[in-house]
Amino acid sequence: MTNQSLQNNENKCFICQDIKSNVVYEQDKNIVSYQCPHCGYYTITTDLIHDLQYLPKQFEDFRKRAPAIAAERRLRKMDQYILSAGPKYEFFVNHDHLFLDEYPKDFFSKYNRALCNLGRYLEMSPLKKIPDSIESFQRYIFCEDAQSGMELLKLFAADGFIYLNIPRVINRTSHITMAGLREIRKLLASESPRNANVFIAMWFDDKTKPILQPIRQAVTEAGYEELNKQSFSARVIGKIRDAGIILCGSPLGYRIALTLGDITDYVEHDKSIIEPMLWRLNTARESIKTITTNNYDILYSERFVKLRSFVDSFVAEEIKNKTMLNAEFLDEE
Ligand SMILES: [Zn+2]
Repeated sequence: MTNQSLQNNENKCFICQDIKSNVVYEQDKNIVSYQCPHCGYYTITTDLIHDLQYLPKQFEDFRKRAPAIAAERRLRKMDQYILSAGPKYEFFVNHDHLFLDEYPKDFFSKYNRALCNLGRYLEMSPLKKIPDSIESFQRYIFCEDAQSGMELLKLFAADGFIYLNIPRVINRTSHITMAGLREIRKLLASESPRNANVFIAMWFDDKTKPILQPIRQAVTEAGYEELNKQSFSARVIGKIRDAGIILCGSPLGYRIALTLGDITDYVEHDKSIIEPMLWRLNTARESIKTITTNNYDILYSERFVKLRSFVDSFVAEEIKNKTMLNAEFLDEE
């Protein structure tokens, strides 16, 4: 089959089956790129398409939920990705996580994300009307059929987030309300659902410890992911420090720096991490230089220009200090 005939026969979105998609086969690279008005721009391997013809069950499961995920990705401008298959035909996004895992896991998360998507779909305008035919946008609100889509819209209306025109009155259309826009903006600010964090601000000691477990359970059941100590310090503490607030930390926890001593502790802490790292990097660099008889510098690339200058000045300073120390010893002798 030639490229031309493939395009003519199968100009169909792999995910949502829309025939308005632009499909480009790159036979030499063994990939197919899709540009779909609903699912956006994504790439998959021809092997995957071929194999799926013999796996109707996996494909059916995929077809049910995938269009909603792809539609949300397009609205969020995250639609440039590669879809590939694992050994059991799990669908991977960029070889990194499971595609179907992006489908909302509970109703609370579905409600919030559907509301956000409705806002994005209508370009955050209270003046744009919600289409009468729910089929034209139901995938954006994670609904597999028109009826459950309508039920979800009724819930939005009951909460005052949209004005829903039922029964239809002439010249009145369904649209987002100002309260709805405010809610969507709030939800968007706390995006994305994959990174949603929850804080419990309370003191935990031996007395309160027994309630920690039920709190944890409730948090995970509500669709939030539990942070371990490492991701907490990278994702939460790191960001607070980026915002210019000085936090000093100890194995017991963190607190806002209040005294000069606290600030010195904080700097000492950073020093204890950064300096050995620079030193180690320099050691690795020197080893490679020795092995390659000075032919290869691992920090040579343009990408490392800043790092190289840090390492260079750090090493120069270290050597100067050591020489001065040695000189002092010599003086004493
Ligand atoms: Zn599509």
